[in-house]
Amino acid sequence: MPKAFDVAIETVGNEVSQPLARPLADESSARRAPGAAGAGKSFYIETFGCQMNVHDSEKVAGVLLGRGYRAAANAVEADLMLYNTCSIREKAVQKVFSRLGEWRGQKRKIIGVLGCVAQQEGEEIFERAPWVSLVCGSASYRELPELIDELESGGRRVLGLDLDVDETFETEITRRDNPHRAYITIIEGCDYACSYCVVPHTRGPERSRPSDAVLVEARRLADAGYTEIQLLGQTVNSYRDPSPRQLGFVDLLREVAAVEGIRRVRFTTSHPNDFDRQIVEAIDSTPALCEHVHLPVQSGSTRVLRAMRRTYTREEYLEKISWIHSARRPISVTTDIIVGFPSETEQDFADTITLLDAVGYDGVFSFIYSPRPNTTAASMPDRIPEPEKSRRLAILQERQRQIQLARNEKLIGQTFEVLVDGRHQARAQWTGRSGSNRIINFTSPCENLLGEYVQVQVMRAGPHSLIGEQA
Ligand code: SF4
Repeated sequence: MPKAFDVAIETVGNEVSQPLARPLADESSARRAPGAAGAGKSFYIETFGCQMNVHDSEKVAGVLLGRGYRAAANAVEADLMLYNTCSIREKAVQKVFSRLGEWRGQKRKIIGVLGCVAQQEGEEIFERAPWVSLVCGSASYRELPELIDELESGGRRVLGLDLDVDETFETEITRRDNPHRAYITIIEGCDYACSYCVVPHTRGPERSRPSDAVLVEARRLADAGYTEIQLLGQTVNSYRDPSPRQLGFVDLLREVAAVEGIRRVRFTTSHPNDFDRQIVEAIDSTPALCEHVHLPVQSGSTRVLRAMRRTYTREEYLEKISWIHSARRPISVTTDIIVGFPSETEQDFADTITLLDAVGYDGVFSFIYSPRPNTTAASMPDRIPEPEKSRRLAILQERQRQIQLARNEKLIGQTFEVLVDGRHQARAQWTGRSGSNRIINFTSPCENLLGEYVQVQVMRAGPHSLIGEQA
């Protein structure tokens, strides 16, 4: 069974992160260090952003637990309050300062800002919110124990903003928030330079974890009762094993999938440039590799892709999709799309709409372009007016809704294996995900199915989920 320090947390699967606010707090029974610096003190972490941020918070929580801290039930009770931020959306900085404003006056507390906004704003945070005493970007999390030491020994303000790193953030303890599905980071940072993206400026250069460390963690998780593993990286399929084994991404996928007790392996996010046929062949021949690929396209227009510096054309992307479509196992495909990029014409936008039809996506995370600090796109001319961006987004989302509904309706009558991860009491339904990452709500006479793998027959379909009965 999973260790008792795990509580439920939702996942988000996309390269352009979804801002989600979530508290991170539980009653942990993780290995503690009685008499350690944090003994008797408590922490609370609030996390915004993608799975990488969620998992970073899980590791930061592990660092604190290892130092003798315990998880507080809420922010008010905590001695150390950390805010793990995401700057993928416009107004992120204002939102961070407004949230920090609510924590003002908590005199006995240490308040810290982590993540992308910490990296982006740096010391400016101390100026604008003098009650903050710790600012640390994600590329500097390795320094967190020393930074916390400094604060605990009377330091007033500590700063970790080093981007010149060649190591990954490893922790002895990771306080995971889902009892069945666990994240493992295999690669951090990014060496691409998409013109709209802050990640290379906030997470630093690409660096992969040694394959042995990944496999040891996977085996430990299997021993602890986890059955699903999600391998994470900003560009997960750019993985290059720095150890003498020099495993490629596909070798690593196969080895993690072969760990005894692991029934499902997912990976996100893939960069189209590094997506090759071997990944599809591995999914085809390895039942434990989930039949789902998240492959962010961003635009259906080659002209816009060039302006975004995405390093592939529409045609090259579609060729990769054709490999996925020709697999023996049906593999679901999801993507991210940005509308209203500077200079996007009606024709460029029409190309994106036709791409939706050409691919037949099972899900799309769609966003309106907003300029981000320190990116080249922020100074590009020909900005699209906001109402026009909104109009295009609405058209895209409606078209995709129709596509998803049509695709899901074709699944009526089919049976899927679902890992059950929740219960809707009011609807008397269980909920979970198929290997293809579809949300399936279903009825069952069983009393407790949480964490179980259940065969479910689909009876009805909506654009975003399926409804079924336990088969
Ligand atoms: S691949 Fe592009 S969009 Fe993705 S993290 Fe790297 S720079 Fe950002």
